[in-house]
Parts: sequence; C-alpha cells; structure tokens
Amino acid sequence: MTPVYPEWSRTIRDVADFPKPGILFKDITPLLADAKAFDAAVKAMAAPWRAAGVQAVLGVEARGFILGAALALELGAGFVPVRKPGKLPGATLQQEYTLEYRSDRIEVCADAIAPGTRVVLVDDVLATGGTLAAALLLAGQLEAQVLGAAVLVELDGLGGRARLPAGVPLQATLVY
Ligand code: AMP
Repeated sequence: MTPVYPEWSRTIRDVADFPKPGILFKDITPLLADAKAFDAAVKAMAAPWRAAGVQAVLGVEARGFILGAALALELGAGFVPVRKPGKLPGATLQQEYTLEYRSDRIEVCADAIAPGTRVVLVDDVLATGGTLAAALLLAGQLEAQVLGAAVLVELDGLGGRARLPAGVPLQATLVY
C-alpha cells in the first residue's frame, strides 16, 4: 500500500547526490522556513509522546537541535544538546561511533540531567542509525530513563531501526 503523506511533508526537499554522489539528501530547510509546516511537523513529532511524561529532550547537533528544542517546548520538557567534540564546556561524557568511512564522536555535559530523568532522543533523519545508537549510549552514560527516540524522517531500507537496541521505541513521523 502506498503511504499517504501529509501536505506539509512536501516542504521537505530531496537533493540528489548531496553531500556526496549516491546520497538522496532530505533537506528540511524549506520546512523550517514555512511556519505552518514547521508547526505541523513538530506537533506530529510530539503526538506519540504527549502522555509519556517526558522531562528532557536530547537533540543531536545540528538539525536535532532545531527540531528537538521545538519538541521540548511542545512537550513542556527541557532540552539537552548532544554536540560534536570540543563544543561543550566543563566535564563531558563522550561516545565514539563509526560512520560509513570514518569514526566520529558526540558529547554531552556530564551534569546535564539527574539520573533517572525521563528522556526522548531526537534527530531529523534516521539513516544507518549510527548517530542515534551513539546518542542512546550517551543517554545510558547519563543514567537517563530512555523513553524512546523520535525522528522526523526515517529512511527505510538503510537498516537504521535494526541498529537501535531492542526495546527502545522509535517514532518516525515520515517513512521513505
Ligand atoms: P545515520 O547515523 O546514518 O543514521 O545518519 C543520521 C544523521 O546524518 C542525521 O543527523 C542526519 O541529519 C544525517 N543524514 C544522514 N543521511 C541523511 C539524508 N539522506 N538526508 C538528510 N540527512 C541525513
């Protein structure tokens, strides 16, 4: 069955061969620039979590900041930035992860949340799942109570969902 996509999802632009040949890049910048589409997208992302008692949203740099901060406000939760190396002051927790051809690292402030805080992780796109899997490990280092993860777009067929630990609910608003 062909999925039916909401009208606002048309503001997400497909850019072929960016940032390198063979990648179909899902560009959310036109969505962000459209007030109604941005609002609808954030409300759709928030819907599954409204009754979940989310206390903090962990957003992954950089587009996970934009959607994650908006989602945090929508859910009445705090926002915690998960950043690229060397950006956060003070003591940090770190997690290495491997991408297609290289490895990378993400960090979070060691005292960002109290142990047991009920969190949801957010990014714009789930592709191979490496980024979100690493962020989940960081949430584990923070001793957060992970309620699940939320992405605006899941690229089905890249195996991202399977890379996440079993038992972590993943809510994808749009699946392509
Ligand atoms: P991955 O770790 O492979 O799941 O990749 C997810 C991260 O890379 C997210 O932070 C996305 O913003 C970005 N990303 C990966 N693939 C795409 C794509 N096709 N379009 C837009 N962003 C992507």
